[in-house]
Amino acid sequence: MTHPLFDEARKYIVGGVNSPVRAFSGVGGEPLFVESAQGSRIHASDGRAYIDYVGSWGPMIGGHSRPEVIEAVQRAASRGLSFGAPTEVETDMARRICEIVPSIERVRMVNSGTEATMTAIRLARGYTGRDRVVKFEGNYHGHSDSLLVKAGSGALTLGEPNSPGVPAALAELTMTLNYNDLDSVRQAFEEKGDEIACIIVEPVAGNMNCIPPVPGFLQGLKDICEEYGAVLIFDEVMTGFRLAPGGAQEWSGVTPHITTLGKIVGGGMPVGALGGQREIMEHLSPMGPVYQAGTLSGNPLGMAAGLAMMDIISEAGFHQRLEASTRKLCEGLKEAAEAAGVPMQINQVPGMFGVFFTEDSPIETFAQVSACDLDRFKRFFHGMLEQGIYLAPSAFEAGFLSSAHTDEDIDSTVDAARTVLAEI
Ligand code: PMP
Repeated sequence: MTHPLFDEARKYIVGGVNSPVRAFSGVGGEPLFVESAQGSRIHASDGRAYIDYVGSWGPMIGGHSRPEVIEAVQRAASRGLSFGAPTEVETDMARRICEIVPSIERVRMVNSGTEATMTAIRLARGYTGRDRVVKFEGNYHGHSDSLLVKAGSGALTLGEPNSPGVPAALAELTMTLNYNDLDSVRQAFEEKGDEIACIIVEPVAGNMNCIPPVPGFLQGLKDICEEYGAVLIFDEVMTGFRLAPGGAQEWSGVTPHITTLGKIVGGGMPVGALGGQREIMEHLSPMGPVYQAGTLSGNPLGMAAGLAMMDIISEAGFHQRLEASTRKLCEGLKEAAEAAGVPMQINQVPGMFGVFFTEDSPIETFAQVSACDLDRFKRFFHGMLEQGIYLAPSAFEAGFLSSAHTDEDIDSTVDAARTVLAEI
């Protein structure tokens, strides 16, 4: 079967996509091309509407094409697209972030999650005067060199590049440990604690499906960082404003020294941010020596969209409703799997969920995720797509709900899952 839009795209765009997971390489087949999206639905070039659980990979927490967001962008656009000089709306955004996110006292706006994490680790290195970075296998923090690193042969030895083009000399400075395994972190700090600048962690992992932290994991990371004078970075690009208004740090009660944000903070525009304790943040240029800059940073359209999205997530009961619909969906999927006799586990936090085709439970580690039945996931994904349900096209990505998903949407999704699970 040929897909004319994809065929044409592949003539000019590398692989036909501008970000690899869109190519359906994890599930096979060819991607949907989207024409428009409204509320919980995306409208594809095949003429069908799909209930969308990707939500642009997170930003669309209030549903697609929210009039408040679109109108805010239109109003901003009518005043000019970019000035490269300060605007009041940037202060409005920064004030809002400081008010909502518990640990943030000062903010720097950037243009993507990748930039936010890249800057955060440079800042942590500059602040501590140390070079090593600790991260976790299965966590994703964007595609900057120091973070595209996997564990070397011994977990506590040198990191290895995850991609050609990442210099081994740089990768060596990144230690990749096991998520939810505090002992490996303690051991790493016992060996190299005075060289470690920071730990960067997804406080709920959403890039190896959906893996919440086990009790004590996040607090343990904080304690270790404080003991050794290292900086704790929560990468809340996915979880920020989603799990609770103040993100995973409000949800878990553990506050990091630096937080990185993306996705929802731009309401669908290319925006990222980092923020944290004033004392650390003021090491950034122009106040401090750690260099960072951006031609389009704090762009007025991005700020307008993000602020409109902040208003939406700040509505009373927003996250309680999101949590309730996540629970309803997950309970429905679980029952559907049981009825079909398919071994399936589900992890969930407010607004995020993941299904795992395995008998193993609970799912807390990357090794467990990797051991799931990935072929069954592919059949599930394509079966659901056929039924009009658009799930993340990878067994290693979390699903996202928005406030636009109605009870009827969830009932339709569960009905579709009943049909599909009986066939796979
Ligand atoms: N951190 C996390 C936790 C992410 O999920 C992502 C993107 N999925 C990034 C960083 C990178 O963000 P971006 O794609 O905006 O560069």
